[in-house]
Order: sequence, then structure tokens, then C-alpha cells
Amino acid sequence: IIDIKHIRQAPGLYEQNCIDRNYGAHSKNSWRIIELHEQWLALQQSARELRSRNKQLRDQIAKDGAEKQKALGEAKAMKTELSEVEAKETQLQEEIEALAQDLPNLSSTHTPVGTEATLVDYIGEHPDPSNSKPWKSHVDIGQQLGILDFAGASQTSGWGWYFLVGDGAMLEQALVQYALSVARGKRWKVVAPPSLVYSHIASACGFQPRDQNDEQQVYAIEQPEKDKAKPQLALAGTAEIPLAGMKANAVLNEAELPLKTVGVSRCYRAEAGARGADTKGLYRVHEFTKVEMFAWAAPDQTGEDHFAATDASSSETVFEEMLGMQHEILTALGLHCRILEMPTTDLGASAIRKRDIEAFFPSRRSIDDGWGEVTSTSMCTDYQSRRLHTRLRTAHANKLGFPFTLNGTALAVPRVLAAILENHWDEKSATVRIPPVLQPFMGGQTEISKQ
Ligand code: AMP
Repeated sequence: IIDIKHIRQAPGLYEQNCIDRNYGAHSKNSWRIIELHEQWLALQQSARELRSRNKQLRDQIAKDGAEKQKALGEAKAMKTELSEVEAKETQLQEEIEALAQDLPNLSSTHTPVGTEATLVDYIGEHPDPSNSKPWKSHVDIGQQLGILDFAGASQTSGWGWYFLVGDGAMLEQALVQYALSVARGKRWKVVAPPSLVYSHIASACGFQPRDQNDEQQVYAIEQPEKDKAKPQLALAGTAEIPLAGMKANAVLNEAELPLKTVGVSRCYRAEAGARGADTKGLYRVHEFTKVEMFAWAAPDQTGEDHFAATDASSSETVFEEMLGMQHEILTALGLHCRILEMPTTDLGASAIRKRDIEAFFPSRRSIDDGWGEVTSTSMCTDYQSRRLHTRLRTAHANKLGFPFTLNGTALAVPRVLAAILENHWDEKSATVRIPPVLQPFMGGQTEISKQ
């Protein structure tokens, strides 16, 4: 699951990378992996010697001479010794894998080191803050129009759930359909993924049940007693997990790349530990609909294990295409946004590079000057494909390599819906203007008024 050759060449790089990414607890993993790997190599050598001696002994036993009894005794002792060596080899391998599992991906040279993102660009016009227009939160607008119901959801499910009602529910459908139409126009294949995934698939994608602050982020499924020995299941926090898992243990061909999929799913987030103003309304909820792009691309490096990607299939090209689609969608929805190159501490486990787009939410002016994340795009190189054992066959190398994976939000409904309500609200007429690109998906309706 790791590139042991590279770790052996540059253990210090992995150590510093852990520190930069706030994975300090695992900063010594690379050194320990090398130590264990040395021991494993020595054991492999012993096992080879034992096997070759065993072969000699078998020849002596077959000859039926005076040496036979002695050889039989030695062969018996050797069998025990060999199985002990093999057991130790397996144990070392498991220890190495456990340490490797906790190592984050390396960080790109584009990524700022530390906690501060770099501002890359803006999308759309910034609403005039001196404007006398009264800013209203989407919670108030949604409740005034009768399209959002938090009180009802608190009865059925508790804090962090909501009902979208009437035109609110239709707006969600329109957003999904619009995002899919953009993706399909660019030849992304639509996939409807399962919501339940094996926990080990989520881990291989870089999602651990608990985050760095030891907060539970995933809803794990309680298994009945009779199924306790079966693999653990969890509700997927994002379609990225089942989409990546779809090709676990598969071999892709160079000619298939880039393989571009777009999944619509319900996403489940425990969001334990989330507190404060973020938790009001639709901004941070436990369940939501998201249109997610996921792609397998050609590795960008050349080298022994990799081949030189063509421009069209390279992960760099797919990354740009994802960002281009987000730009197109957010522009068409009339939202003012800023594009950020995310810093090392924000990359999570799997990304080598990440760009977020934040939209302006008038109701959040007291938090982050109104900015709130609406999309996130990650380049994951071979981090996920190594852990999921998704391999790549190329015409150039005689050994199988690993494709690169990427994921990006095409449209995460609740925050975009909230931004539309807040930015397109007209106090005088008490209506929300529906962006023209969504109108065909709402039967030509141009505004939302009280239901
Ligand atoms: P992530 O998969 O965590 O990178 O998030 C992708 C996008 O999903 C974010 O940019 C948000 O728009 C949205 N999102 C993430 N978590 C939540 C949440 N708890 N509630 C509402 N939207 C969310």
C-alpha cells in the first residue's frame, strides 16, 4: 500500500510532511517502517536459506542411505523453524501496513505549508456591503417562505436535520439535475452509488472513523451479534468512497483513462464536535445530497513505475476540468465566490493538493467575513489506488502501476441552496429569484414565493 522504495530514499521528507499536515503523532512512522522493513528483508533471506537447506535434506531422504534418519530429524526441526520465520514475516508485514495506513499522502509544491490558504481568484461580483438591502439568513427566508422546516425535523431526527418542503424540495432536484447536465455535457458518466460502505474501504480512501481530534465523524452500523465477524459497515460521508471502491482490486487499462464518473448520493456526517454559528440552518447538517465527481487519471510522473501521461488523461488536466466545471456552475448560479489553494493542515489524509471554493453568505458576515466553503477538489495521486489495490496496465511498463485518483464537488445541495436563498432574496416582493439555469428544471418557474 506504500511506495517503500521512496520511503527508504527519503524518510525525512515523510517525517516533515506529517508535521506540516498536523499528523505529528505519526511523524516517526517512516523511520519505523524502514526498521521493520530491514527486519523483514533479513527474515526473507533466512526463509530462503531454510527452504534451500530443506531441499537438500529432501534429496538425502529420498536416497534412502545412512544419512536418512539424521536428515529426517533435521527436516522436522527445520519445518518448525520455517513456520516460525513465516509467522514473524506476516506479523512484520501487518505492523508495516498499520504504520503505512496512518501516513498521509505527500504534499504538492503548490500547497502552502501551514494553516493559511492562498487566495487564487474570485468568481462573480461581490455584493455591495454598503447596500441598504437588509441581509437575511436562509433560515429566516426559508421559514418565511415555508420551504424549510427545522422544527418538524427536530421531532423526527433531532438537531442537524431538516425538511425541504415544496419549492425548497424542488430546488434541490433542480440543482442536482443542473449539475448533472453540466457533467454529462463534458462526458462524465453518471453513477448512482450505494450509501453503505465497508469501513475498510472508507479507511483506504483516507476516511478514518475518528478525526485527528478523536471526534466520531462517521455513522457506523451496529451489526447483529451473528454478523460480528463480518466486515464493519458505515454510512458513506461522500460518494467519493463508494466510487473509489467500485474499482478496488480492479485493473484499469491505459486506454480507459481518464475514467470520469459523477455520482449523486446522500452524504452522512456525524459532525460530532461541530459547534457554534456554523451549526445554524443548512450550513452543517448530518445528511445532504451531493453531486460528486470522481476520476481515475494517468500518473503525471515518468519513472520506473509510471509512464508519461498524455495531456488529456493526466491528473493535472482532470483537476483543471473539475475546477472549470465548478466555476461554470457557481457563475451560472449568480454566486460570488473565492478560490483558495488549501494549506497542508487542510489536506486530510489522501490529498496531495486541494482547492476549495467559498461562496459569500450574507448571514455569515460575522464569521469569516461571510465566506463559506461550497466545493472542494482534491488530487490524491496513487494514495487511494494503492490502498484499494486498483492497478493500471500500460503498454510502456511490463509491471502493473497505479492510476491517480481525483475527487471534486460538482454541487453540494444545502450550502448552495442556502447561498441562493440569501443572495437572491428580494425583501420588497418577499421572493427568491431562481437562477435562469435552474428554471427549466422547475417547470419554467422564475421565483419562489410563500407556499
Ligand atoms: P467534503 O466532502 O467534506 O470535502 O465536502 C464537500 C462539500 O460538501 C463542502 O464543500 C460543502 O459544500 C458540503 N458539506 C460538507 N459537509 C457538510 C455538512 N455537514 N453539511 C452541509 N454541507 C456539507
